[in-house]
Amino acid sequence: MTRGVALLGSTGSIGTTALRVLDRQRDRFHVAALTAFANGALLGEQAAHFSPSFVGCVNNEVNGRAGWRSGQECLVEAATRSDVDIVLNAVVGAAGLDATLAALEAGKRVALANKETLVMAGDLAAAAAKRGGGEIVPVDSEHSAILQCLAGRRPADVRRIILTASGGPFRDWSGERLAKATVDDALHHPTWRMGRKITVDSATLANKALEVIEAHYLFDLPYDRIDVVVHPQSIVHSLVEFVDGSVLAQMSAPTMELPVLYALTHPERVPDDGVQPFDPVACSPLTFEPVRHEQFPALRLGTQAGRTGGAAPAVFNAANEQAVALFLEGRITFHDITNAIESALGALGHTPGGNREALLAADSSARRHVRSLFSC
Ligand code: NAD
Ligand code: MG
Repeated sequence: MTRGVALLGSTGSIGTTALRVLDRQRDRFHVAALTAFANGALLGEQAAHFSPSFVGCVNNEVNGRAGWRSGQECLVEAATRSDVDIVLNAVVGAAGLDATLAALEAGKRVALANKETLVMAGDLAAAAAKRGGGEIVPVDSEHSAILQCLAGRRPADVRRIILTASGGPFRDWSGERLAKATVDDALHHPTWRMGRKITVDSATLANKALEVIEAHYLFDLPYDRIDVVVHPQSIVHSLVEFVDGSVLAQMSAPTMELPVLYALTHPERVPDDGVQPFDPVACSPLTFEPVRHEQFPALRLGTQAGRTGGAAPAVFNAANEQAVALFLEGRITFHDITNAIESALGALGHTPGGNREALLAADSSARRHVRSLFSC
C-alpha cells in the first residue's frame, strides 16, 4: 500500500520539487491532495498527471474549475483527509499555520517546509502534536541535515548545533553598496533557486533567524546552543557537535529533492536517483566564515525575538513578511526591511502569545505597524 501525500503549495518552488520526487517514488507514495493559491493552469496540469482525490485552489473563483475546492479553508480540508498520511506543507508564510496545526491534531506526519508556522506558533504546534499524535519532520535543508546527524543519539549527547548559511547574494557587499541593493539584486541567489519571499529572506539573513527559531522548537534546544556559520558553497547543510567534541555534518549538492524525500521516508532511507553523485573534489574548496552581524542585523533581531518568546517570534515573522512584500513591490529599500522589523519588535515585541487568536492578532498588528511606517 502506498502512503497518501497532501501537497499544500504544489505550484511553488518546493511544491514542484516535491512532485518530481513523488513522480519517481510512485511505488511508495501517491498524491492524494494538491492545493495552491492561484495558478490554476499549472495546478490543472499537476492534477491531470497525478489524479489526486482532492484539489483545492484558494482563488478558484478566478479559475472556475468544477470539482475543485476553494477558499483558504481548503488547506485544512486537504490536510485532514482520511486518505492522507503525510502533509507536505510547502505554503509560504503565515497562511500555512492552520493546516499545520490541523494536520498535527489529526495525527498526520507534517513534512514541514513552511517554517513560518513553527516560528509563529512553536508551542501550539507541539501541543497539537501531543494531543493528536502527529509529528513534524523538517524539509528545510539545514534541519533535515541536523535530524540526519542526530539519528540514534540521545539529547544529552548533543553540545550544540551549527546551522550553515550561504550568506545570500550580498555576503561580501559593503554597507554602502547594500543601501542601493535592488529587487533584482536580492533575487539573484548564488546557490539556491527558490520562491521570491525566501530568496529575499536569504539576502537579509531573516531566513536564518527563522531557522534558528525553527531549530529551537524542532530539537528542543536553548538558543545559546544554536550557532550559525556562513558557508558559501551550500554543500555542508548543517553540523552537530557532540559532548565529546566530535562533529557530524551532512553534505550533498544543493538540491531540495533530498530533504523533501527524507522528510517523507524518515527514519528510513530509500533508493532514489534524483540527486547527482557526490564529488568531493568538484565541491572543493569548502569554506566557512563568521556572520557579518553589523550588515545583516535581522539574524540577531530574530534570535532575540525567539529568546523573548510570547508573540515576539510571530511579530518578527509578520513584520518581515509585510516588509518583504513591500520591498518586492518596489515601495521600500532593502535596509527598510530590517528597520521595519526592528520598529515592529520595539512596539509589539512584548505582546503575550498563548493561543492562536493572540498570535494572529499580533501578526495583524505587526503588519499594520509596518504598513503605517511607510504610509502604505
Ligand atoms: P513559493 O512562493 O515558490 O511557493 C509558495 C506556494 O504556496 C505556492 O504554491 C502558492 O500557490 C502557495 N501559497 C501562497 N500563498 C498562499 C495562501 N495564502 N494560501 C494558500 N497557498 C498559498 O515558495 P517556496 O520557495 O516554495 O517556499 C515555500 C515554503 O518553503 C516557505 O515557507 C519557504 O520558507 C520554505 N522553504 C523553501 C525552500 C526552497 O528551496 N524554495 C527551502 C527551504 C524552505
Ligand atoms: Mg534552509
